[in-house]
Amino acid sequence: MPELAPLDRLSYAPVLVSDEDDISQKTLAVHGGEPRTYPYDALVAPITQTATYSFADTAELIAYFEGRKQREEYGRYGNPSVRLVEEKLAALERTEDAAAFASGMAAVTSTILALVKSGSHVILFADCYRRTRQFVTTYLDRFGISNTLIPPADVEALRAAIRPETRLVIAEAPTNPYQTIPDLEQVAEICREKKVKTLVDSTFATPVNFQPAKYGIDIVVHSATKYLGGHNDVLGGVVAGKTGLVSLVRDLRSVFGACLDPHAAYLIHRGIKTLALRVEQQNATAQAMAERLEQHPRVRQIWYPGLASHPNHETAKRLMSGFGGVVTFELDSDLDGTSRFVDACRIPRIAPSLGGVESLIEQPALMSYFELSTEEREAIGIKNNLVRYAVGIEDTDELIADVVAALDRTA
Ligand SMILES: *Cc1c(COP(=O)(O)O)cnc(C)c1O
Repeated sequence: MPELAPLDRLSYAPVLVSDEDDISQKTLAVHGGEPRTYPYDALVAPITQTATYSFADTAELIAYFEGRKQREEYGRYGNPSVRLVEEKLAALERTEDAAAFASGMAAVTSTILALVKSGSHVILFADCYRRTRQFVTTYLDRFGISNTLIPPADVEALRAAIRPETRLVIAEAPTNPYQTIPDLEQVAEICREKKVKTLVDSTFATPVNFQPAKYGIDIVVHSATKYLGGHNDVLGGVVAGKTGLVSLVRDLRSVFGACLDPHAAYLIHRGIKTLALRVEQQNATAQAMAERLEQHPRVRQIWYPGLASHPNHETAKRLMSGFGGVVTFELDSDLDGTSRFVDACRIPRIAPSLGGVESLIEQPALMSYFELSTEEREAIGIKNNLVRYAVGIEDTDELIADVVAALDRTA
């Protein structure tokens, strides 16, 4: 059994002090980063719903500013409910620290801005999250920060794209919707040699399936809106990494103000406790669904990292302990025929997002890329007959029977 640390309310010191490498993600999801008890002997973390914090006297104020006393000061700089999300994420990602934000995009943009300056160069895998790409290619560009987009999972292209002024490489694994997985161990190695920082958006993988820091990635970012929160009821984002880097990002949060609300923090903290259970179930369902769909005559092509047919299957097997809850496939159909299939599914709901308890289905041509023409979509690899299925925690056999029945009904 892990040893228990003495209670330290002010620093919210993690309960578990023996080598955390020995402790499973399942146990850390429940206990990681939590003190042994809370005020009033409550078992569960309270929601500290306050905008500011009072000082007993001027002496305490001075002690705080001189760094002799650790405590909260003002809501934008910190909150105990938010701090607990950060401690739990740091425990799960095996990093020194983490910082939470009001959304995934607040986490992504604040992190990038903390690491670059005018004249810097940023490298981005071309299939990164669309808004991250938009931020780098349109907004950063305005401030004299240049960028190079490199083909999905292409590590050789990364090597070739690094310049003396390159500060940051942004990767994602798995990506949306084709779930490419660059060899992030190699990415980390190449970048360390060139003194370039690495950022991985690990939203699709979750710390249950993959811990990028173990492979030398500097900063891990999550949209907590997805698997971490897990219930499609809260927006949030988290950044995890070494203390020095996370401090830079947290300082910027104090300036930009995209801080996580205490109540939202509570929901995310609560959500993470069942993260391992949910993700293990979602991994299993997605694997079974992918194997079934791969055999279905109406499915033209399928992308799931757990299938031997996926181009990055070997990388996924080496780096990850699970292949995630998203299955992407093309039907033997056109835009309207594919819509008829989506509409014929009775269990999944039509909605953007993923990672919650409810299964969600979407046709990327109509959801994320609606404003583009068919030709423009095909140029970026999004066909009209493409479907993204993000599995929830419903019964595996029922989900598969439902999707197969919808395929057969709309043939
Ligand atoms: C959803 C998502 C984001 C953005 O997160 P929000 O919480 O919606 O701001 C960033 N990256 C990935 C991979 C996502 O799926």
